Amino acid sequence: MAFGCDDSLVAPLLSIEAARAAVLEAVVALGSEPVAIDDALGRVLAEDVVAANDVPPFDNSAMDGFALAAGPAGRELTIVGESRAGAPAAKAPGEAEAIRVSTGAALPAGTEAVVPVEQTETDDGRVRLTADVRAGQHVRSAGEDMAAGQRVLLRGASLHAAELGVAVVAGRARLECARRPRVALLITGDELRAPGEPLGPGEIHESNGTALAALAAQSGAHVVHRERVGDTREATDAAIAAALDGADVLVLSGGVSVGPHDHVKPALAANGVTERFWRVALRPGKPTWFGSKGDTLVFGLPGNPVSAMVTFLLFVRPALARLQAADPGARRIRAVLGEGVARSAQRDEAVRVALRDGEGGGTRVATPTGPQGSHQLTSMLNADGLALVTAGEGTADAGTPVAVELI
Ligand code: AMP
Ligand code: MG
Repeated sequence: MAFGCDDSLVAPLLSIEAARAAVLEAVVALGSEPVAIDDALGRVLAEDVVAANDVPPFDNSAMDGFALAAGPAGRELTIVGESRAGAPAAKAPGEAEAIRVSTGAALPAGTEAVVPVEQTETDDGRVRLTADVRAGQHVRSAGEDMAAGQRVLLRGASLHAAELGVAVVAGRARLECARRPRVALLITGDELRAPGEPLGPGEIHESNGTALAALAAQSGAHVVHRERVGDTREATDAAIAAALDGADVLVLSGGVSVGPHDHVKPALAANGVTERFWRVALRPGKPTWFGSKGDTLVFGLPGNPVSAMVTFLLFVRPALARLQAADPGARRIRAVLGEGVARSAQRDEAVRVALRDGEGGGTRVATPTGPQGSHQLTSMLNADGLALVTAGEGTADAGTPVAVELI
């Protein structure tokens, strides 16, 4: 070739799925640690949780009213005691007797039903029933929610409000959780100023540090190091050396292309990080770099703000899930395009889409959020997912099925 050969023009790019598989293959899951239940929100469960006892632990009343034997309306019974939540009745009532009960109170021995207070008239220690009483009515039986020994949560589950509540009900105060991945963020670029700083000529606000730290936290990681790095080889070398220490995952933003001020690739090599891939058939996000040093995973993400978020979601987030022994593919759904999207000839495109229900509750419909430039961060606003529109000629028409990575 007359003017030299840039192999980016000839070498086939790695597909999104191949790149993702290469990332997941490099992951060695982290260990686990006991976590107090009130600190476990957002963590990944590293054990199965088994109910320690029946839940509810005893038959109890679903209503405020009277516990008694089943029978027809019109009966008149003597009130011989009370069972309150936390304070069961002392004695079992006889045939013509009833016990006052509150919601959640233990059903007194010898009774089989509860009549709600609204279906009674009381007078001077006696209760008259205005409705028939069926055996078992308004009674919550022991073990109706969980049986003792039942597995109620599985290893790998993400712990949200419901999981945490269920774990407590199952008898737990602590849970064995995957250790949180420690993430270091290095943000390269001479043009970058901290949020809120006045901008000089040619300068912009540094937004990737904020957005990527937020994505890392949402993925269960702990950001242990975050630093802005100037576009020199020396600064990049030194920052990488410091950030690798104590990180499970190093994420760099910017400087990973082939410009004269892009130092990330040679600096990573000089720090002993082995390249596993560079460049993906993805728009935005083509220059994405991935490598490892020992068990530490290293991602070089493109600096364009949308590219940085998209490549984090497609490659770093699954790695953080797998590090915590969670399912890295849990965020994929199928949808159809809500409007036509021009295909990119060589690269699959991660189109930021809002999702809505299809006609009659059918397949979800994915509609682009607006202009899709890799510098247009507002395209991420109101985006529910990334629709992966495959490369090709022409347009992917409305109704075309697509995979969507939920955000
Ligand atoms: P780079 O990948 O370093 O070539 O950067 C690509 C584009 O993204 C350039 O327009 C940069 O100014 C911009 N950029 C890089 N890093 C950031 C950042 N941290 N925050 C906002 N924009 C950035
Ligand atoms: Mg740069």
